[in-house]
Amino acid sequence: MTANIEAAISALSHLDIDTKPASLKARSRDFFWYSPVLKDRLDHVMADFAVSPKSEAEVIEVLKVCYAHDVPVTARGTGTGNYGQAMPLAGGCVLHLNQMNAIKDISPGRLVVEPGALLKDIDAATKAHSGQELRMFSSTWATATIGGFIAGGSGGVGSVHWGALRDVGNIIRLRVVTMEEEPQIIEITGEDLHRVSHAYGTNGIITELEIPLAAAYDWEELFVTFDDFEEALRYSYDLASCDGLLLKLVTLFEPPIAHDYFQRVKPHVTPEKTVLALMVAPQSMPGFETHLAHWSGEVIYRKGHTDWPRDPGLIFEYGWNHTTLRALKVDPSITYLQVGIGTEDPVGRALRLREEFSPEVLLHIEVTRQNGKVGFGSLSLVKFTTEERLDEIVRIHEAMGAPNFNPHRYTLEEGGRQSVDARQLEFKRQADPKGLLNPGKMIAWDDPDWTYDRMYAWPGMTKAAE
Ligand code: FAD
Repeated sequence: MTANIEAAISALSHLDIDTKPASLKARSRDFFWYSPVLKDRLDHVMADFAVSPKSEAEVIEVLKVCYAHDVPVTARGTGTGNYGQAMPLAGGCVLHLNQMNAIKDISPGRLVVEPGALLKDIDAATKAHSGQELRMFSSTWATATIGGFIAGGSGGVGSVHWGALRDVGNIIRLRVVTMEEEPQIIEITGEDLHRVSHAYGTNGIITELEIPLAAAYDWEELFVTFDDFEEALRYSYDLASCDGLLLKLVTLFEPPIAHDYFQRVKPHVTPEKTVLALMVAPQSMPGFETHLAHWSGEVIYRKGHTDWPRDPGLIFEYGWNHTTLRALKVDPSITYLQVGIGTEDPVGRALRLREEFSPEVLLHIEVTRQNGKVGFGSLSLVKFTTEERLDEIVRIHEAMGAPNFNPHRYTLEEGGRQSVDARQLEFKRQADPKGLLNPGKMIAWDDPDWTYDRMYAWPGMTKAAE
């Protein structure tokens, strides 16, 4: 199967199409460079052209033409993913959904929206319309799209209350266009949502989403410090377990993360301090203060009340993967892991991980609801030395019962639980029979017998120039 790029470009020339090398290069990349492993493998990846459809009808037209000419198609929101999810490994077409950004309907508890709408624009519109907001968002709220979040993300700010994106109820409906000779439009609900959510656009292009909303608040933003790391861990678990308090963010940074990497926080903490970043609903502040009085933690910053010479900005832009970004800016040798710590004795497990790895690996705990229970995940910061050592660190975590959602891999399976998602694979057989959607990202499609004993290297990847 050889792609006829020229024929596809010619057939789509009446659309908003881009073939300029400089902008194509930018549209072919995401935040893959967070990983030295992916930086090494994917740096050269480049599409042949990009097209920005303005409507679902144009999406259908692009998919039909690319199907006819065997051209791979990789969907793109704004390319803030971290694992090369939006990178066109085989070249071909980047389907850039930035112009499909209409907010179509807002009603009590729900929103209908096109995939290219930015998370921050959605929140502004729903707040102005009826005092509502997204239940959860990636910390790239200011720059990421809702389609990219659903197809490539997992959860974020709000997950301490609402759980992960994959949890039942956090997506209501997706409308998807298939990659066939005659593309179909499929409305997906219920169990079937698992087919396309977090599938990296490998088995359909999302053209409309229906998402639940929550009441919007002017969230209180705080930094709290502790002298004792274990007490801070216990506090964060206990705080998130208070059913009467409404929280949007509970993030904990092992020392010296806040001191060493958060430049505007640094003047206010010593290297020994454990720091928490919190978002608390205003009506929960009295309860929050009552609860904190039982602990030795100290509020060092409360937005609107504390006058720091340099404003720290949005508090959630210290959490989730923004922690890694801040650390990378100070020390380019930092990379990260995504570690499942779970809900069974998370404090004890976190302490054991710290004992094993600190300071080579520093815990950055995100407290989340996991199947109705409070649990920990860690986007741990890693001082990178070699790929072999990084793999060894992952293996030791797993031997300690802390699974890794490996951010140094570009396939769905290796970034997940290293197992085939039969629902995603089955839907790909139906929706993308030629395997043209985001090729190289689903191992089960390419090599069902893969044993996960080493990093998967997709044979179809366009080779880097020697
Ligand atoms: P892109 O990166 O453009 O795309 C993501 C994936 O979705 C790609 O595989 C793409 O092909 C696919 N896709 C995009 N649009 C469609 C569509 N319409 N149909 C089908 N497939 C589509 N992630 C989190 O989950 N939580 C976080 O808190 C978080 N924090 C981050 C912080 C930083 C600093 C960075 C760099 C990344 C972070 N991420 C986080 C990862 C990423 O930013 C989010 O997942 C984000 O929501 C992705 O949106 P995007 O528009 O950039 O998607």
